[in-house]
Amino acid sequence: MLEDWTIYSWYCPNCKTQVAGLKNKKNQIRVICTKCSAEMVRTVVGRRHDVIDIYAPIGMEHSDLELREH
Ligand SMILES: [Zn+2]
Repeated sequence: MLEDWTIYSWYCPNCKTQVAGLKNKKNQIRVICTKCSAEMVRTVVGRRHDVIDIYAPIGMEHSDLELREH
């Protein structure tokens, strides 16, 4: 059985640091931002549809995340 070793990378929505990870068998990429410690789980739903769940660092409420418009 072939493994998918594609590296997925994107920018942390919280601090704009680039993060990268490998997809697991559940089509999810789990990374923890090296800068702000936010945990992200990216789920590959389809070829053109990804969902990224963001978990704030422990002790940081959602309202403390500086989510900004571009
Ligand atoms: Zn971050």
